[in-house]
Amino acid sequence: MIEAERASLSDSLWTATAVPGPRFGPLSSDLRADVAIVGAGFTGLSAALHLAESGARVVVIDAHQPGWGASGRNGGQVNPGLKDGPAALRARFGDETASRMIAMSGGAAGLVFDLIDRHAIACDAVRNGWLRAGVTQAQADDLHALAREWEGEGGGVDPLDADAMARATGTDDYAGGVIDRRGGTLHPLNYALGLARAATRAGAAIHGDTPAMGLSRQGGGWRVTTATGTLTADKVILATNAYSGPLHRDLSRSVVPVCSVQVATAPLSPNVAASILPAGAHVSDARRLLLYFRKDAAGRFIMGGRGSFREGPTLAQQARLRAVSERLFPQLRGTAWEHAWGGLVAVTPDHMPHLHELAPGLLAGLGYNGRGIAMATAMGREMALWSLGRAAADLSFPVTSVRPLPFAFARGAAVEFEILRLRLLDRFNL
Ligand SMILES: Cc1cc2nc3c(=O)[nH]c(=O)nc-3n(C[C@H](O)[C@H](O)[C@H](O)COP(=O)(O)OP(=O)(O)OC[C@H]3O[C@@H](n4cnc5c(N)ncnc54)[C@H](O)[C@@H]3O)c2cc1C
Repeated sequence: MIEAERASLSDSLWTATAVPGPRFGPLSSDLRADVAIVGAGFTGLSAALHLAESGARVVVIDAHQPGWGASGRNGGQVNPGLKDGPAALRARFGDETASRMIAMSGGAAGLVFDLIDRHAIACDAVRNGWLRAGVTQAQADDLHALAREWEGEGGGVDPLDADAMARATGTDDYAGGVIDRRGGTLHPLNYALGLARAATRAGAAIHGDTPAMGLSRQGGGWRVTTATGTLTADKVILATNAYSGPLHRDLSRSVVPVCSVQVATAPLSPNVAASILPAGAHVSDARRLLLYFRKDAAGRFIMGGRGSFREGPTLAQQARLRAVSERLFPQLRGTAWEHAWGGLVAVTPDHMPHLHELAPGLLAGLGYNGRGIAMATAMGREMALWSLGRAAADLSFPVTSVRPLPFAFARGAAVEFEILRLRLLDRFNL
């Protein structure tokens, strides 16, 4: 397992530029709640905020501070939808279930921006659109087909040819793609901290530096044990995603943690900044090992891509991200690269998030496959509704049983091998 404190993963731009605030102190007594939440990322914090706003007594604990996991380390790209488009969802889940999933995932970016507005969260949120870029003509054609699918589902996704994509990105590397106008960017750690403060204001209690060490049935509810106190609650939400550890082994074995890394420049000079993503959109491309890039509010250029489970290869991949950035945008050469960091993405075999009832009253939502700012926020709200009594059959996302993956011990090596294979396919555009 990756150590989050590993040097190549720790120099986060977001930690360096976060709005300062008091730490969330550890749990120091035995508390009783309606709902206890383990994990203070977007999933747990959104659940806590929605529960507290509905009047429920809710307590959140995190082994570290809110936003310490993927939520405070990501690319800040707020992207709606799921990996599968509307047509694939309808074919797989049937019209009724798929319609709810499409509405939930298609509206998930809107939910994020609404929460930011409603709670006045200072996190540099802008909604300038998400450019999805095809490297090959076949990829561009697939993206154009996706835009047509969304037309029948409320729209918001427009096709772009190679020239339009070059104007929008500032590089002629792409064969075409789409702009998804529902998407935008933000400072992810400030968004997480803002959700935590909003949840606290609404009445939730949040305790950092409090690892949950044990989980047991207590009467009709649950007991969460920590080193400094216990939580008893009618319901428990596990919101631990790729950082799920031994607390619930089947849950942690149901996802493959994959490292994703980022590099960021110093603020660009105004003329260089104006030549890259001039309208302020952000990009993820259709390479198998995708590249995703954007500028931040101070005009830094940020590039992200896959990392590794080991220190040496992660450093090499961060160097590769700097090199590919300077190939796409030669005007970046000579600009200082000031930050390099990373974290864990939870990948699922079907590339879909999962919603589980692990036992009566023990709920979990995870597996956002690298698209979790919007979906984790939406899943947190969904789990709040579920905890408040909405029937599983009436939720916007299907509840499935947890399926631990076999050979969990070999997952690290398998992921490394798969990344190498995909890199070769990308290199030769196969
Ligand atoms: C480098 C990187 C870039 C990414 N870029 C993007 C992007 O641009 N756009 C996008 O949409 N998504 C992106 N993602 C994915 C997104 O960040 C995640 O999907 C999302 O943050 C998941 O949120 P979460 O709350 O479920 O999990 P997390 O934020 O990972 O939170 C889990 C929390 O659980 C806590 N925890 C675990 N075990 C315990 C325990 N036993 N007791 C107490 N606490 C515990 C951890 O400390 C952690 O804080 C990226 C991810 C990474 C790593």
